[in-house]
Amino acid sequence: MAIQLRDKVELDLHERYSDLMVAAAISKQRLERQQTPDISALLDTLARNFPSYAWIGLVQPDGTVIASTGGLLQGMNVGHRPWFQSAREGPFLGDAHEAALLADKLENDSPLPLRFVDIAVPLKSADGELMGVLGAHLYLHWVENIGESLLAPLQERLKSELIVANEDGKVLIGPEGSVGKPLNDQLLEATRSNQSGHLTTSMAFEGSGATEEYLVGYSQLRDRAEYAGFNWQVLVRKQADEAFMPAQDLRNTILGVGALMAMLLILLASSTARRTTQPLLQMAREARNLDPNNPDTLIRMRDDYEEVKVLSTVLRDLIQRLADKTRETNELNMNLERRVADRTLALEKANRKLEETARTDVLTGLDNRRYLFELGKTALKKAVRSGRPVTTIMFDVDLFKKVNDTYGHAVGDKALVHLSALARQAIRDIDILARLGGEEFAILLENTTEEEAAEVAERLRTGIHESPLPLERGSLGLSVSVGVSTLIPESSDDLDTLLGRADKALYAAKAAGRNRVCLYSAIQ
Ligand code: GH3
Ligand code: MG
Ligand code: MG
Repeated sequence: MAIQLRDKVELDLHERYSDLMVAAAISKQRLERQQTPDISALLDTLARNFPSYAWIGLVQPDGTVIASTGGLLQGMNVGHRPWFQSAREGPFLGDAHEAALLADKLENDSPLPLRFVDIAVPLKSADGELMGVLGAHLYLHWVENIGESLLAPLQERLKSELIVANEDGKVLIGPEGSVGKPLNDQLLEATRSNQSGHLTTSMAFEGSGATEEYLVGYSQLRDRAEYAGFNWQVLVRKQADEAFMPAQDLRNTILGVGALMAMLLILLASSTARRTTQPLLQMAREARNLDPNNPDTLIRMRDDYEEVKVLSTVLRDLIQRLADKTRETNELNMNLERRVADRTLALEKANRKLEETARTDVLTGLDNRRYLFELGKTALKKAVRSGRPVTTIMFDVDLFKKVNDTYGHAVGDKALVHLSALARQAIRDIDILARLGGEEFAILLENTTEEEAAEVAERLRTGIHESPLPLERGSLGLSVSVGVSTLIPESSDDLDTLLGRADKALYAAKAAGRNRVCLYSAIQ
C-alpha cells in the first residue's frame, strides 16, 4: 500500500509538472504576441481542472506577477521567493511550507495553517534568455486526498493510516497530533535505507505517547530525470494486533483443529490398542487359570483378528500336547512306582529268606554255628554288664558213624532231626540251641549256674537215651555224651573259652565211656 501511494504521488507530481511545462510553452507564445490577459484565462482553466492548485502565476524576470489564477498577487513582486530564484535556472520542486501572503487570500476550513508545495518552471526564449517563471502552489492536502481516495474504499477492512514525512523524517501528513513530529528512530533508520519495506514498531513517531504495536509499511518518493523530487517518506501503518489477526486466527484454527485431530487420534489409538490387547489379556488369564488336572480349563479358540486366531490355535495345540505328555509321564511314573514297590517287596522277602538261611541249619532247622556265635556274643555282653553266669552245654552223638554205616545216611539224617526235637523239648524257650556241625550240638543258657545246667544236661541225656528213633522195622536207640561249662564273663571274647571248656568236658565224657554228662569244673 505504501508503494502504491508513493507511485500515485509521484505520478500526480509529474502530471502537475507536465501541466506547467505545457502551460509554460503556451504562455511563452502568448508573451511573444503580447497576449498577457489570455494567459490568466489559461491558468484559471488549468486550476479548475485540478482543484488542488492553490495558485498559479506567471512572473516576469524582475519578479513581478503579471498573470495569475483569480488575479491573486497580480502586480506584486515575488522575486525574493526561493521557488522563483531557483526556477530561473531550471524546473524546481519546493518542499512543503506555509505561505502567509497567499494563505490570507485563500479560504481555510481546517484549524491547521495552510501548507503548500511549489512547482516552478522557467520560460526561455529561443536563444536561451529568461522570459519569465511559471510557478504553482499546490495544497499539501492534495496528498491526503490521494491517501483517502486509495485507502477509503478498503478502509473498513484495512483500518490503515497514511503518514507522509519529509526528507528529515518530520511528519507532514498523518494522524491527529502527529504533524510536525519526527518519526521514531527505528523508522528513521529503516527509511534512510532508501528501500521499501515493513517493520513492526511500538509507535510511528516520537512523542506520540502511543504504546500500541504497529505494522508499518514504508516507501520513498524518487527523483526524476527532469527534476529533483521531495524525497518524502510515504508510510502506511496499521495496529499490529489487527494486522496479524488473520494469521493469528489461522494459527488458532490450525492449533484447534490440530488438537482435535490429536484427541481423535488418541481415542482411536487407545481403542485400537484396547481391541488389540483385550484378547491377549483374556488368553493370558485363561492360561493362568489352566489346571492340568481339569480338562475343562482351556484356552478358547478366538477369531478377534488373524494374529490372535493363530496365537490361540498354537497355544491350544501346545497345551494339548503338554497335557498329553504330562498324562503319559504320570502313567509311566505310576507303573514305575508299582514295579519298584513289587521289586522291593520281593527283595525284602529274599533278604529275609537269605538271612534266615544264613543263620539256620538246613537239615534240623536249628540255629547254625555262625548264628550261635552271633547270639553268644550278645548274651556274653549282657552277662558282663549283669555279672551273672552263662553256661554252655555241648553234646555229640555217640558212635554215629556206625549208625550211618549200618542204616544208611538217610536214617542218620532222620536221627539228627529226631535228636534236635528231643533237645528242644529238654530246654527253655529262651535257651539257644544250635547245630555246630556233623552230629555235634551246643546249648547256650543265660543267667544259669553250673548246677542248674547239669540238671538240664542230665535231662537231655536221659531224654535221648529213653527215646529211640522208630524205624520201619524196630527202632534205633541213641545216646549222647555231654560236656558242661559255666563262667561269669569279663568280655564277649570269653565265648571261645566257654565253648572250648565245654568241648573239653564233652571229650572227657566220651573218654569216660560215653552216654554221660561231664562238668568242666569236675575235670580241673
Ligand atoms: P564217637 O563220637 O562216639 O567217638 O563216635 P562216632 O562214630 O560218632 O565218631 P566220629 O565223629 O568219628 O563220626 C561221626 C560220624 O558222623 C561221621 C559221619 O559219617 C557222621 N555224620 C556227620 N555228619 C552227618 C550228617 O549230617 N548225616 C549223617 N547221616 N551222618 C553224619
Ligand atoms: Mg563227632
Ligand atoms: Mg560222635
